[in-house]
Amino acid sequence: VQKWDEISMKKMLFRIVSGISLAVAVFLTIGTFTSHAEDVVVVIDPGHGGENLGGQWAGHDEKDLNLVTAQAMKEYLELFDGITVYLTREEDKELYLQERADFAAEKEADFLFCLHYNMSEEHTLFGAEVWVPAFAGLYEPGTAFAQIEMEELTAMGLFSRGIKTRLNTKGTDYYGIIRACTEYGFPSVIIEHCHLDERNDTGYWSSEEKLKKFGVADATAVAKYFRLKSETLGLDYSGYEVPEVTADAEVMRPDETAPEYCSLTLESADYENGSVTVSVEAADADTYIQYVEFSFDGGDTWQELQPFNGEKKSFTLRVKMGTTPVLTARAYNLYDLKTESVPVQLETFTILPEPLEPAQPEPDAAPDASGAEAVSTPSAIVQGFGTITIEQSSKQDLVFFGLLGALVALLMILGGVFLSIYITSLHNRRYRKSYSQKDMKNSRTR
Ligand SMILES: [Zn+2]
Repeated sequence: VQKWDEISMKKMLFRIVSGISLAVAVFLTIGTFTSHAEDVVVVIDPGHGGENLGGQWAGHDEKDLNLVTAQAMKEYLELFDGITVYLTREEDKELYLQERADFAAEKEADFLFCLHYNMSEEHTLFGAEVWVPAFAGLYEPGTAFAQIEMEELTAMGLFSRGIKTRLNTKGTDYYGIIRACTEYGFPSVIIEHCHLDERNDTGYWSSEEKLKKFGVADATAVAKYFRLKSETLGLDYSGYEVPEVTADAEVMRPDETAPEYCSLTLESADYENGSVTVSVEAADADTYIQYVEFSFDGGDTWQELQPFNGEKKSFTLRVKMGTTPVLTARAYNLYDLKTESVPVQLETFTILPEPLEPAQPEPDAAPDASGAEAVSTPSAIVQGFGTITIEQSSKQDLVFFGLLGALVALLMILGGVFLSIYITSLHNRRYRKSYSQKDMKNSRTR
């Protein structure tokens, strides 16, 4: 009995020990498994680096701006629960696009966000744009995220240049980073926050604070897309409604044709002050009309781009006085392909005579100062404004008044001469008269 008890005790102990260790093992396995399944892994890729500077504007290299925004994005995202964030580069170093995608694949990324700042060839475009994968399966998550991102950016006041796909001649994604991530099978987007080289966007990136603000906006879009919570920030996006996107083709092709239609109608023109109101109607079958621009010389030179985003819009333009403009409009679709309207010839805009500024008298100048000095002083004051007319008119005035004075003097002299002749003659006549009367009297008395 004793022996049996000893054996059964040992068996019991063994069972208990193995049971506990099994439970611990199962617990650990489930724990690791669930934490892996729950944690979202994102890779943030600050564009360019090292020798690859990216856009250069106003003494800044795009690679540096991208890194500031990326670091702020990571910092803010890490305040949310259930997310692991990696940067492809934490310093200024060059990386191949393939290396960036390899890094994300190695980290088993759920999404790669590639951050950039934009520039355009003619420095005319402005606004934010997001590039997404063209292929069904990755197009949907890319576009769903891009819609949330664009909402964040337009809420900051930026103009949307759209959410777009682009293909190369081989028919795969044009942008290398998207192409490489697509090959691995995880979604990726390129965020072009704003344009460095257009004054509409300058106010959005001109300080480190502003670059970081973009990072927070990007992080917010990611948190919303993955429905994250942050106890630290007191934010809960678990109920956030991620847009439902469906690809209606295997490959979502970019728009390769210019807008179908663009017409310009003259509504009114004020030929006295140079103000012209026109309405533009434009349409594009594949995307939409994003900008319009105007030419006053029939399309030789173009004015600044105007946001359009619609089908019909009125514009009030300022025409240079003294010109006979040939007004033309040009409509851009989402891919910057453009269509010109038929030109409209306007009448000549009159030039109203500019009122002459009165010459400022020099306070210290003695009234009897020489003529040359009196003229040169006020002209020196207004020279900074490029007005030489005042000097000329003063000279003309001087000559005019001089001549007038001379004429008056001449008239006065002549008048004096005539007056003296008249008085003399009058006196003579009286004298003669009195003389003759006296004479007569005398003769009578005599
Ligand atoms: Zn770039």
